[in-house]
Amino acid sequence: MSEERASLALTVDVEGEWFELPGEQGSFDVGRVLEAVYHLEARLERLESRIEAKIPITWFIRCDDSVAATTGHASGLLQALKDFVARRMARGDEFGLHPHLYERSDGKWTSQANPEGQKGQLESAAEAWKKYFGSGPRLSRLGEAVMNNEIAGCLDGLGIEIDSSALSGRKRSDSGFQFDWTGTPTSAYRPSVPDYRRPARKDEAERRFVEVPFTMLPMLGPQDREPIWRYCNLSFFPNLIKNALMKVERPEFLVAVVHPHELLPGGKAHPLIAHQPTSLEENIDNIRAALGDLNFTLLSACVRGARE
Ligand SMILES: [Zn+2]
Repeated sequence: MSEERASLALTVDVEGEWFELPGEQGSFDVGRVLEAVYHLEARLERLESRIEAKIPITWFIRCDDSVAATTGHASGLLQALKDFVARRMARGDEFGLHPHLYERSDGKWTSQANPEGQKGQLESAAEAWKKYFGSGPRLSRLGEAVMNNEIAGCLDGLGIEIDSSALSGRKRSDSGFQFDWTGTPTSAYRPSVPDYRRPARKDEAERRFVEVPFTMLPMLGPQDREPIWRYCNLSFFPNLIKNALMKVERPEFLVAVVHPHELLPGGKAHPLIAHQPTSLEENIDNIRAALGDLNFTLLSACVRGARE
């Protein structure tokens, strides 16, 4: 019976609040990040005991040049989360590298758009990760869904096994966002070397890593004329996801995300993000009501399941 359950991989991007675009996360308040992470952890524990299920988490943690600028070291946030990381690791959670690629020019943070610069930043982020954990990152998620063939090649070179940056079907080049996931499948695939956005064709080489896209759902926000396919963010107003689930075929796997600070009350008013501590639980309750009992899984386990 359990074979028929839908799987939910809950991923958490551990980072600061958004201030401005582009380069909105060039600096952040580490104390505030920790507060939001501990708040999320307490809510998860309560949820687990209420629904009597263990919820393993895949944590993507910021580790990059702008973290270094704020804390003195690319792994500064990891170091500040040392006890937390050890505690969650003992529970069986997994951790992935979450670099936001910015550069500082004229005293302002902007998106790092130069492929050589992006590669250099990724390499130094992975190096800092390796120093902290004793081994290089196996998982990655690029900030703001940035990807190109050079970055994909670099991830292969760094030994990444699973990347989860793709927003299947979406393309943006506005408000500081620069990504193109046109034609990307909705489930896990090995990217083509000539085009990271899709699986390799018969005559093409493929990357060693697997790309695991976020689950996209057709959500009708208050400012939308028609539904827009958006990533499954469990900090969103619960009705957005509840209504979207009614419009899609029953998914076998859901890759959902949450940003800890989005669950703290009192955030800036936003058309999609509820800034309500209860929205994570409400969204999970609604998903269970729509899909039945869930198999909560790590992102990496979900990929293994998808391949079988
Ligand atoms: Zn991020």
